[in-house]
Amino acid sequence: MEGKRWIEEAESHILHTYNRYHVVLDHGEGVYLYDTEGKQYLDFAAGIAVQALGYGDREYNDALKQQVDKLVHTSNLYYSQPVAEAAGKLCKASGLDRVFFTNSGTEAIEGALKAAKKYAYGKDGRTDHEIIAMEHSFHGRSLGALSVTGNAQYRKAFEPLPGIVRFASYNDLESVKTLVNEKTCAILLETIQGEGGVYPASQAFLTGVKSICEERGVLLILDEIQCGMGRTGQMFAWQGYGVKPDIMACAKALGCGVPVGAFLTTEKVAQASLKPGDHGTTYGGNPLVGAAVSKVLDIFETRGILAHVREVSVYLEERLSRLEKEYPFIVGRRGLGLMQGLALESFVPAAEISQKALEQGLIVITAGNNVLRFVPPLVIGKEHVDEMEEKLRRVLDTYL
Ligand SMILES: *Cc1c(COP(=O)(O)O)cnc(C)c1O
Repeated sequence: MEGKRWIEEAESHILHTYNRYHVVLDHGEGVYLYDTEGKQYLDFAAGIAVQALGYGDREYNDALKQQVDKLVHTSNLYYSQPVAEAAGKLCKASGLDRVFFTNSGTEAIEGALKAAKKYAYGKDGRTDHEIIAMEHSFHGRSLGALSVTGNAQYRKAFEPLPGIVRFASYNDLESVKTLVNEKTCAILLETIQGEGGVYPASQAFLTGVKSICEERGVLLILDEIQCGMGRTGQMFAWQGYGVKPDIMACAKALGCGVPVGAFLTTEKVAQASLKPGDHGTTYGGNPLVGAAVSKVLDIFETRGILAHVREVSVYLEERLSRLEKEYPFIVGRRGLGLMQGLALESFVPAAEISQKALEQGLIVITAGNNVLRFVPPLVIGKEHVDEMEEKLRRVLDTYL
């Protein structure tokens, strides 16, 4: 039992901020993970929506290996080819004009908020600008990102948090309208709320928020950290709604495993916000992650990942809806593309299902208030959906 040793070692030294599953993952291949005992797991979590290409992708791995031997880090005082290429490809894929690379999602949110504040400051010179964010949102764990995260559980112990933030109800346009005033500089939301329980924005809500932003000269910031990068069958979820943000935050699947995030802005925002000296990062967007982002975007195009997601997600939705009909304790299915959730009655705890699924060799995670979350690698096939269903049924049957 080599695995047990690593669990003990980790538990004696790593700060206890996670209750981890008692599994020591060792390697991955395709959409499967293997632990140190050699047990196989079908992965429907993708390291929390990160491993869009699954594991052991030859082309991706080779690109990273080559870059490791060339140059890993330069700092942002210099240019490098992989970063320049990654920036160009990301702007092209998003239709936004300027990018700033970060090391994580939470830093992408920090930068997005700073860009919005600087933009507003440049317009009216005020320093009391307000941000409107959403209840049940999740934007990260650093203090700025926590300030816009509408969940007491994450915030409470760390208050007061920076900035003036007002919380509206997600998918409730009236609640947004009542909060907008002359101090509002930005409205921030996830195009699909992830951690909050897999809630897609309604078309009317997103279109409505965009109209408010245009009328009031307020910036729209969309957090696409979890729902972006092809997960909905669009490169970015907002592209499916036809609602373009002024600023977008991106991370998770952006580098398919290497730590990289980004925020992007329109040229208009870029021209009137962050300037040399206003923002920076030592590692952010180094050549190694640049090579990863660049290769990921190439692979999305050459392998038709978006078309594949659109096809396989219809199948996944169908299967999940069938489960919803058959098991009385499943009270709803929500989501878009390969970002799906099954809401459960309280006597069937999602965390318990997730644990039991793991024992069956299936990785699924939870979200929000008792929701089972499905965010598999984007390269899953229908046969993997079948296998997931079969394994999940074995667990669900025990609650009947
Ligand atoms: C994961 C996540 C974040 C935070 O990203 P980190 O890389 O963990 O800092 C922010 N917003 C959303 C929507 C996320 O899903």
